[in-house]
Parts: sequence; structure tokens; C-alpha cells
Amino acid sequence: MSERDKREYAALKADPERYATYLKRKARERKARVEYERSRKARWRANNPEATKRIRDAGHAVERALRIGRLHRPRCCQKCGEMCKVEAHHHRGYAEAYWLDIEWLCPPCHQAKHALSLKTKGRDEKVTQ
Ligand SMILES: [Zn+2]
Ligand SMILES: [Zn+2]
Repeated sequence: MSERDKREYAALKADPERYATYLKRKARERKARVEYERSRKARWRANNPEATKRIRDAGHAVERALRIGRLHRPRCCQKCGEMCKVEAHHHRGYAEAYWLDIEWLCPPCHQAKHALSLKTKGRDEKVTQ
């Protein structure tokens, strides 16, 4: 936050009524964003049933491998080093041969990867390799 933003935010917080309105608007915006994401993903799944199944299978394979100790979830993100519950990213696509070929990423890095692959080649292309 810049100095000006900080000052404005402090003024806002000092006014309970305005602050309440501000918080409500923020919550509404966040909800709208989450809902938009959810419906976008649902639409994608409906249009790509084969790929959806393969992604799910890949996820299950990872869970199974973690359970039996074939894979280990590291404690931090392989990209930025952030300590958190990292997520399995199938960086070579979802073909069965690569189900356990995982890049472990924190949620923000993971999201960024998918945003990137959507922009560059489209997710389904990667999936059907
Ligand atoms: Zn990260
Ligand atoms: Zn991923």
C-alpha cells in the first residue's frame, strides 16, 4: 500500500459507517469473483469431459502414491520456496506416464502456472498430449 492509500484507509477505518459499507462491498466483490471462477471451471469441465476425467485420475494417482509413500510432499514450494501445504502440479500434462511427474507448488504459484498455460496454449491441448 502506498502512503496515500494508507492514509485513506485509516480515514475509512475511522468512520464506522463508511468502513462497514466498504467491507460489505469487498465481500461482495470477493464472492462474485469466486462464483465466476467456479462457473468458468464448471463450464470447462462440461465441455471437456475426457480431460476432466484424466485430470481427476491424475489427482487420484498422486493421492495414492502419497499414501503408500511413493511420493513425498515437500514442505515448501519448488518455485518460490514458500513454506506451506504445497499442491501437486502436473507440469508435463496429464498423460498417464506423467501422473507422478509432479512439480510441488504453493497455491499462488500453482494458480499462476495454470493461468499461464491457459494463455499460451490452452489447458485442453496440454491434457490430451
Ligand atoms: Zn510458490
Ligand atoms: Zn497444476
